[in-house]
Amino acid sequence: MGAQEVREGFVRLYGAEPEGVWAAPGRVNLIGEHTDYNDGFVMPFALPHTAVAAVSRRTDGVLRLHSADLDAGVAELRLDELAPESDGSWTAYPAGVVWALREAGHPVTGADVHLASTVPSGAGLSSSAALEVVVALALNDLFALGLPGWQLARLCQRAENVYVGAPTGIMDQTASACCESGHALFLDTRDLSQKQIPLDLAAEGLRLLVVDTQVTHAHSGGEYGKRRAGCEKGAALLGVDALRDIAYADLDAALARLGDEEEVRRLVRHVVTEDQRVEQVVALLESGGDTRAVGPVLTAGHASLRDDFRVSCPELDLVVDTALAHGALGARMTGGGFGGSAIVLAEATDVEALTKAVEAAFAAAGLKAPRVFEAVPSAGARRLS
Ligand code: ADP
Ligand code: MG
Repeated sequence: MGAQEVREGFVRLYGAEPEGVWAAPGRVNLIGEHTDYNDGFVMPFALPHTAVAAVSRRTDGVLRLHSADLDAGVAELRLDELAPESDGSWTAYPAGVVWALREAGHPVTGADVHLASTVPSGAGLSSSAALEVVVALALNDLFALGLPGWQLARLCQRAENVYVGAPTGIMDQTASACCESGHALFLDTRDLSQKQIPLDLAAEGLRLLVVDTQVTHAHSGGEYGKRRAGCEKGAALLGVDALRDIAYADLDAALARLGDEEEVRRLVRHVVTEDQRVEQVVALLESGGDTRAVGPVLTAGHASLRDDFRVSCPELDLVVDTALAHGALGARMTGGGFGGSAIVLAEATDVEALTKAVEAAFAAAGLKAPRVFEAVPSAGARRLS
């Protein structure tokens, strides 16, 4: 939905023009999975899909929220009653952002919000971060808070962790807030330092496909917590603050020290090799060489997530295996796992046959057809009007 439609929706709902319209994108992660809560490296880029919000200030301590994508009506909340006890409602995301801003001492006195999003929800493409960041950016502008993107991302993460109650890392919100068109974002999740890495796939005759399996396995939340706890255990056993502190060159020694802690060994191996893969991809892209060389690194990342970290699932493996069997240069699951989406790097000329092959494989396995679309590195959060 475009800025104009969202603006008109606002006028119909609230009876006045909004003060402005903002957009914030979903993201895919090129490489660096399950590293962001280990202080490690990630490399997402923004999707063309965005959450768009029309917003006006209020001065009476009231927050009104409406999503064009849900049949839920306008929610009206009082700012002084906002408290982290999520009822599972979608309003927890924007309300959590307002709560986090106010908790940090920023003078937000109320708002009317109407939004719509083209980011597929629950597909591992960060529809939640898009929602948070678009509201945060709108309030940042309207209340002249002057916060930079990385700081808005931090507040949005706090909203999601504390107010919504989802223990996610900092990647999603930073990607939505800070990505630039034509670039992937190399982010060090320890100190939040970032670097824009040019990624122009089309110039090399390449495409990056996102394949949304449309599957979400119910236990994903609990498994995510288990992996996080296992990583923390590994760091504690190895005497480091976070697994990020284990250098790739020291991996074998670290694994030997973990002795018969087989599960922890696997988790540690994934995180340390995954950080190394991010650095490898950055080096490849910065060298200006052939981007095709990134393919095998993606595929190695998938094997590590499947075999060591154990967060893949049959549907994601089916996408990756089928794509590779039909000429893909590389493929891997992206996002938390247990469903959601995979990415496939391919020659532009192979895209059609490859897409058909993945669709046929899903049909043969009796699965609902996946959603396949091309991902072009797009702009981060911005004001539209
Ligand atoms: P992901 O971020 O991977 O898409 P999450 O479970 O983190 O998945 O976030 C999905 C949730 O975000 C939805 O359940 C809903 O509460 C909220 N959400 C996403 N898009 C919208 C939307 N357009 N309108 C209202 N709520 C939305
Ligand atoms: Mg999310």
